[in-house]
Amino acid sequence: MECKVNPHRGCCGICVKTFKWTPVLLISAIIIWSYYAYVFHLCILSVQSEIVRYLLLAFYHIIFLLFLWSYWRTVWASPGKIPARYRLSFEQLEKLENSETDSEQRHILSQIVVEKDLHVSMRTLHGSVRYCDRCTVIKPDRAHHCSVCGSCVLKMDHHCPWVNNCVAFNNYKFFILFLFYGFFYCVYVALSSFKYFLQFWASSFDAPGQSKFHILFLFFVSAMFSLSLCSLLCYHIHLVLNNRTTLEAFRAPVFRRGPDKNGFSLGKSLNLQEVFGDDWKVFMLPIFSSLGDGLSYPERLPDIEMGYKDGNERWDEEDHERMPMLEPEDEERMPMLIQDTNTTRILQPDSESDDEAELMMMPGSGGMVSSGTAGTLIPGLISRDGAGGMHSNGQNSVYS
Ligand code: ZN
Ligand code: ZN
Repeated sequence: MECKVNPHRGCCGICVKTFKWTPVLLISAIIIWSYYAYVFHLCILSVQSEIVRYLLLAFYHIIFLLFLWSYWRTVWASPGKIPARYRLSFEQLEKLENSETDSEQRHILSQIVVEKDLHVSMRTLHGSVRYCDRCTVIKPDRAHHCSVCGSCVLKMDHHCPWVNNCVAFNNYKFFILFLFYGFFYCVYVALSSFKYFLQFWASSFDAPGQSKFHILFLFFVSAMFSLSLCSLLCYHIHLVLNNRTTLEAFRAPVFRRGPDKNGFSLGKSLNLQEVFGDDWKVFMLPIFSSLGDGLSYPERLPDIEMGYKDGNERWDEEDHERMPMLEPEDEERMPMLIQDTNTTRILQPDSESDDEAELMMMPGSGGMVSSGTAGTLIPGLISRDGAGGMHSNGQNSVYS
């Protein structure tokens, strides 16, 4: 049987899919071991006071359950599928493929947006409506194509190998809570095991069996994870408060008026509400409560061309709609973002489009190397270089 080298299909696809679960299995194994080490070796075998033991166990289980719940939802939530109405019909696709010039393609895409009555404010660097030629869809605002998952995802933040899922519109809140509770879980375990860690370290405490080694490792592992989770959590809190996705932090979203890194920012309080919702009862629970439908977003500046005077008005039209969750067949997609405390990289094999360019944060430099630069755009569908055409390198550059 022929095995085509396709990361999404055939036996290679199955191998890749299985391999992609390795980081999740690793995290799960660490969580299970930490539970065993903390509950059995620390609380049951090492803590002598009954009151202290019950208090430690009670708080531990609250944090542990919230952490596990958030992680579970981040892993299994469908990140956000593009609705069928954004897909081009056969006739539209044929017309687009048969067009000969870039300006003709831009015109066709603009017509499709009007015909389908799609509200899309974002544009490519060249001023065209954003289109994904692999999914054959008009990209809604903030949606991007995930080359790992192989499809476009709503309000894509990044593809996270540790959850084997795209972090996007439907699970961004869960992801933040996963970082938050993960951080507090590690801090709690590190602080409550510190006393016993010191006793074992100084060998003044006679631990039964292998408890000494479990508690020593428990402290080291939780301290190490709390540091890395803290930096990632702080970064994402910064992004939430400024209403930016990780991708948008690397490359500002482009509108008709040009690139604007604060294009979606409505102020810190409203930005926070956009992700966590306005119901305080579920604010800190991994229950979906983000505002909007993932397709259109209130903007800082009015989108005059589309007839909107005030960005906030757009919440009222489709306000508080909840996206359907958990569609198992959709759990894959986009460029791999490798994030750690020193390095953040977005790797994508194809670099034709605004979101598919290769971006790299150089370790420790704070500088960004990008394969493309955002220039000033003339409102409407006019190319950035002013020559009336867009650069083409083998493919239609309106595809982005
Ligand atoms: Zn796509
Ligand atoms: Zn993905």
